[in-house]
Amino acid sequence: MTPQAESVLELFRSRGAYLEGHFRLTSGLHSAQYLQSALVLQHPDAAERLGRMLAEQLRQKADGEIQLVVSPALGGLIIGHEVARALHARFLFTERDAATKKMALRRGFQVTSGETAVVVEDVITTGGSTQDVIEILRAAGVRVLAAGSIIDRSGGQADVGVGRVALATLQVKSHTPEDCPLCAEGVPVAKPGSRPV
Ligand code: ZN
Repeated sequence: MTPQAESVLELFRSRGAYLEGHFRLTSGLHSAQYLQSALVLQHPDAAERLGRMLAEQLRQKADGEIQLVVSPALGGLIIGHEVARALHARFLFTERDAATKKMALRRGFQVTSGETAVVVEDVITTGGSTQDVIEILRAAGVRVLAAGSIIDRSGGQADVGVGRVALATLQVKSHTPEDCPLCAEGVPVAKPGSRPV
């Protein structure tokens, strides 16, 4: 792990946003790790610093000037905004329709054919949300130069079809309670937010 990734994870740990143990996630699945980036991003100084770091990596990955930063709501809002600040770019976000689950640019956001963009999330797992945003932008003629996240919990596996960067890459596995190796070992399960075990 790079020194930068170590320092990012240490920041998450110090804010209680990255716990190791045995957790029951809101999905009902069990995991040996718990990540909640909102606990880091509630501190604007930390959000600004992470945004600058991610902006630098995106600048290196992207071929050309980045005019737009676009994030899927809600998770990507704070970090996307900070990346855009660091890049002196505009910041837009997409939202998912509650009924149809279809993602769209709303609130009068306009993009122009030929503009360049990067897509930013807080945590990438499968890359599905980032891919949805890329599709919307490409349909409008926007050139998507790269994608980035603070944390990549796919172990580097998520493929979104453009160059991708992350400040820290983890391999986070989750299991149903029946298949959970920690349950099999008899390790007590905790709900995130309670004290780390
Ligand atoms: Zn378990």
